Amino acid sequence: MEHLRIPLWQEGSVIEKFPTLNKNEKTEVTIIGAGLTGLTAAYLLATNGVNVVVVDRDRIGNGTSGHTTAKITAQHGMVYNEFISHFGMEQASMYFLSQMDAMDKIEEIIQKHEIKCQFEKQDAYLFTNNEQNQRKLEAEFESYRKLNIDGEGLLEIPVNFPIKYALKMRNQAQFHPMQYMKALVDVIIEHGGKIYENTSVYDIDSNDHRVVRAVNQQTIVCDQVIIATHFPFFEGEAFYSARMYPSRSYVTGFTSNSKYPGGMYLSVDQPARSLRTVQHNNQEIWLLGGENHKTGQYNENNTPYDNLKELAQTKFDVKERMYEWSAQDYTTLDKLPYIGRLNKNREEIFVATGYRKWGMTNSMVAANVITDMILQKDNPYIDLYRPTRFHADPDLKKFITMNTNVAKEYIMGKIGTKNDEIDQLKQNSAMKMKHHGQTIGLFKDSQNKIHAVDTTCTHLGCEVNWNDTEKSWDCPCHGSRFQYDGAVIEGPAIEPLNKIDFSN
Ligand SMILES: Cc1cc2nc3c(=O)[nH]c(=O)nc-3n(C[C@H](O)[C@H](O)[C@H](O)COP(=O)(O)OP(=O)(O)OC[C@H]3O[C@@H](n4cnc5c(N)ncnc54)[C@H](O)[C@@H]3O)c2cc1C
Repeated sequence: MEHLRIPLWQEGSVIEKFPTLNKNEKTEVTIIGAGLTGLTAAYLLATNGVNVVVVDRDRIGNGTSGHTTAKITAQHGMVYNEFISHFGMEQASMYFLSQMDAMDKIEEIIQKHEIKCQFEKQDAYLFTNNEQNQRKLEAEFESYRKLNIDGEGLLEIPVNFPIKYALKMRNQAQFHPMQYMKALVDVIIEHGGKIYENTSVYDIDSNDHRVVRAVNQQTIVCDQVIIATHFPFFEGEAFYSARMYPSRSYVTGFTSNSKYPGGMYLSVDQPARSLRTVQHNNQEIWLLGGENHKTGQYNENNTPYDNLKELAQTKFDVKERMYEWSAQDYTTLDKLPYIGRLNKNREEIFVATGYRKWGMTNSMVAANVITDMILQKDNPYIDLYRPTRFHADPDLKKFITMNTNVAKEYIMGKIGTKNDEIDQLKQNSAMKMKHHGQTIGLFKDSQNKIHAVDTTCTHLGCEVNWNDTEKSWDCPCHGSRFQYDGAVIEGPAIEPLNKIDFSN
């Protein structure tokens, strides 16, 4: 069978379609973005009697939440030792507790509404096959002891990855994110919430922050706004663009002749590897992920899907390869998400972003924190995740490194052109060239038609690079992605890349 380039979660997805916003709306809270963050916030607010309108520029769950691997865990890589040394025991402990609370709340919602979303408890494992990371994982286990995290250091794991050491966190979970989001949607609608799809929001009024403006000229007047757009498309002078970077990962789904022994796995070595399984169409599908890299920074010989395929074939006795997909997430300067008020002057605008590929629990943390702020209830985690925090030491070092990297990408992109002949360009490939002094991107389709775009990202003017694996123009600075013809796929950009008339 030909494998599918879509996430398994979306195959046969049953979430009903919602209309485009075609009239002005008035509500208490507008939620922009219908991924796990936006829908969970809408669910919590609507079930607390608040009027909500949710808008998404695409379809529900078609962002990162529909492209995830959906492990629900507080084991977020080797973070606890680092958090203890950067922020102290109390903050590190708060981080862990907030994530475990979030996992419990997800389970509560699933039980309350009897949601069939394959929620099941699984142990989570970090593992390494090198001595340097073994020492780091042992130190991480020491931090588990200090924070009373239920874990265990191991010299063997039940799956066929070679290891020197592994660290287990017991009693974590996994689910099917689209089945879960469908149930949230049903409850939001039952409680009077409204949802609009294919409605891109481009602005929150600068004079009256309670007016949300959609691209099709409709407006939503409201008391509060939650920006749940993954990267905040509206930054309100809070410089999120300078405080986060995007990175992509790839997933392959296959059946195997071997029986899966259970567990959710993540290597801490490079290239990172992630593994879990899911029951789908009466088959056990193994989801193997990895091949992370910063969005927009591609090595020409990069073949992420082939690398995963080869690994799967060597280690996991592949029967049939069935799915492939990729997605990206954002990491903040200090690795803690930004959740709360957009900035000090924008009391009525909230944001949730920067989950570092741990959005199942973090979207619930965010929805809870923001809902409690809107309902004027106490929440113990408000300070920890406050977007305006500043943790001087680690922040500053990373700020300089990351901005150097962004500046380098900006400059290299602008001057680093190739002058290959267009004739030699293969079908379904792209290249850059100078045209009237301007760098343009050319894509040759399977009918030999050339599609030419200005390679200046319409978000903040960085230079996009060609991603040959996904056939897209990707921005290395803030993760906006565009189709070969310039149409926006994802990220903070609202406008497409400018098309270039290449005939003169
Ligand atoms: C490969 C991969 C694997 C992952 N695996 C895990 C995992 O195992 N466990 C885990 O905890 N986390 C995981 N994550 C992270 C997790 O999937 C994300 O953090 C989470 O899904 C983000 O949810 P969100 O709702 O904030 O964003 P999204 O799901 O991206 O939703 C944002 C929505 O906003 C909409 N939008 C954007 N701009 C606009 C606009 N201007 N107007 C209107 N709508 C707009 C988009 O269309 C989108 O639907 C993974 C991430 C990746 C990349």
